[in-house]
This record gives sequence, structure tokens and C-alpha cells, in this order.
Amino acid sequence: MAPRKIIHLDLDAFFCAVEELRQPDLAGKPFAVGGQPNERGVVASCSYAARQSGVHSAMPMAQAVRVCPGLIIVSSQYSAYQHASERVMEILQDLTPRIEQISIDEAFLDVSDLPESHTDIARALQGRIASDLQLPCSLGLASNKLVAKIATDVGKANHRQASYPRAITYVAPGTEAEFLAPLAARMLWGVGPKTAERLAGLGAQTIGDIVALGQDTLVRQFGRPGGDLWRHAQGLDERPVESDHVLKSISQETTFERDRRDEKQLLEVLQELSEQVGYRLRQQQLVAGTVRIKLRWSDFSTFTRQMTLPTPTDQDGVLADCAFHLFYQLWQPGRAVRLLGVGASNLGSRVHQLSLWDTPVDKERKLLQAIDELRERYGKKVVQRGRGIKPQSSA
Ligand SMILES: [Mg+2]
Repeated sequence: MAPRKIIHLDLDAFFCAVEELRQPDLAGKPFAVGGQPNERGVVASCSYAARQSGVHSAMPMAQAVRVCPGLIIVSSQYSAYQHASERVMEILQDLTPRIEQISIDEAFLDVSDLPESHTDIARALQGRIASDLQLPCSLGLASNKLVAKIATDVGKANHRQASYPRAITYVAPGTEAEFLAPLAARMLWGVGPKTAERLAGLGAQTIGDIVALGQDTLVRQFGRPGGDLWRHAQGLDERPVESDHVLKSISQETTFERDRRDEKQLLEVLQELSEQVGYRLRQQQLVAGTVRIKLRWSDFSTFTRQMTLPTPTDQDGVLADCAFHLFYQLWQPGRAVRLLGVGASNLGSRVHQLSLWDTPVDKERKLLQAIDELRERYGKKVVQRGRGIKPQSSA
């Protein structure tokens, strides 16, 4: 069997990166997100400039201010981080449904099915998260989750500058054990301070030392987990990427290279975006109860409108009709548009909704299923429904 292509993604100093977007003058400065020192606050995230002075996350804020005088303290805005995290996960969903989110800023992806090389996929993904969301991230690439996660950690640890690491660390199949051997035992995922201490007591400082202890010794010392430890220390890990992550919304948007005023063209874009959202809903076996659109005028003012459907849907036609309806609540003829987006939220599982479908929808569903199969075979761009869109003003 060919080795798997697993990616571990970790957003760099995530809360800080989001705060920099909210307050651009923070860029490059030593700052920490977290509670106030006089309220026994701790550092939730700190900028790389602050890290250079010795600040790290989970440090009491009072101590952080001592080691880094002039540290700017920013109180955390969790909803903003949650929102940014959802946008990142949507980008990951564009790449593959095989995603396992493990925290607000970390996820595993299994990209084994994609034809591009492991590193090309990672570079493109990092580039897209940077260009669409202006967020930096580091990636670890390996044949399994364990080594991919450690690869990310190693990439970040090797970075010692005030900038974001944006590290991509690739561990070629077959070199896992070699990659892990020189690393400190506590870098092995799952080895906490206590286990590390016990391992040190057995003379194992590095991951290679753990392997050298041998399976029997490890099982005698740690019981059954000792066997896992021995396998993991050799970079062996069969655990699948578990895509049980529940999506909160699915959206697609397009920023035009040149602002657009043509009503018919804009409707065509909405149609296309609706089809992309519908495709992703069906791929995830989801239906949406709410449809929204986003419109940004050329002066960057941005508006959204949303509507709730009487029956949740995954149908391109229904999504597009809603999008058109919402578009006309915002549209000002002749005014230049910079960005259009279509989103679906209030998501539920399709399986539970089946009783709600009536026959014409079933027919539409079969057609869409056939189109989806073609899309999967020949790529997303090739199949377009020949739906005629009539601009309202000329109708
Ligand atoms: Mg992170």
C-alpha cells in the first residue's frame, strides 16, 4: 500500500495573528493576548517579538510583563478567533472532506487521494490561507498523524526570529524513525512531563533512546501503553484522520480582479457560487437551513443578507434562487462590486431530512448526483448547468 499523505496544520500564534488583523499597528510589536496581570491573567498567545524576550503561552501575565517590559496586553476576543477558525476550516474543506480538527487552530488532513505532491499541496494551502485570510500557519507533512504533528512542532521550534514561522516540515516515508530519534523524549506526542521523567529515570532522554529500551522493558514499566510508546517512538502510527468535525457553515466567495457592474455577470457568479456551496453540502451529506450572501462594493463597504428556508436544502437551484433574492435586496444598478459570496449555515445531516423530500426534488437530486460524479471524475470546473439567468431589470 502506498504511504498516506497526512498534513498537520497549526496556525502560527493564532490569536495574535487575528488581533494584528483587527489592530494592524500591533504588527511586529511584543504583545500578548490574555488576562490582565492584576487579575491573575495568563498568556493565551504571544507574538513572536514577545517570545524573543522569553514570554510564552500559559505564563502568568504578571511574569510576562516582568520578563518583557513594554509588553502590550490585548484582551482576548474569543468570538473573533472562532470566526477566523471557521474560515480556515472552510478552506481545508475545499481541499478534502478528510479533516480532523483537534483544536481552534489545529487540524489534520488526509490528502492521500489528491494527485499533487505532498509538499505542493501544503505550499498551496499555506498560500491560500495567507492570501484569503491573511493568517500565517505552519505545516507538518508525514505518512501518519503522529509524525506530522511532531514535524510541525520541530519546524516551529527551529524558528527563532520575530516573524511568524510559516514552517513547512516534510518527513519522507521511510525516514520517520530517523527523524524522531534525536528529538527529546517529551516531543513524542502523548508523552507528558510525568512520563518524560520516568523515561529519564530509565536512561531515555531522546525518542531514539525509547526505541533502544525495547518493547519488553516499556511494557513492563508502563503496561499496555508501553507498547504504543515503543511503536510511536519508531514513527509508527496507523490512526486514521477522523473527520467527525461538525461544520457550522459552508461558504464560497470571489473577489473580482476588476470591479464588476454588469448585473447579468454578477448573477452568473452567484449561480456558480451557489453550485459550489451545493456541491460541498452534498459531499458532506448536509442540508442548509439558512442561506446568506455577502456583497462588497468597490469602496470596501460590505453587506450581508440572509434568509431562513422553510425546508433545509442541498439543492443548487434553491440556493441560487435565495442568493438572487438576497442580491436584489442590496443591488444598486450601475454600482461597482468588488466581492460576492454565498454561504449556507444552520446545517443539519441530510439523512435526518429525507422524509421531507418530495418527488420533484428527488428528481433534481438524481441529476445533481450525476453532475457531482462528473465533477469528481473530471474536476470541479468542467461541469456547469446550462441554466439561463435573467437579470431582473431586463426581465
Ligand atoms: Mg497554533
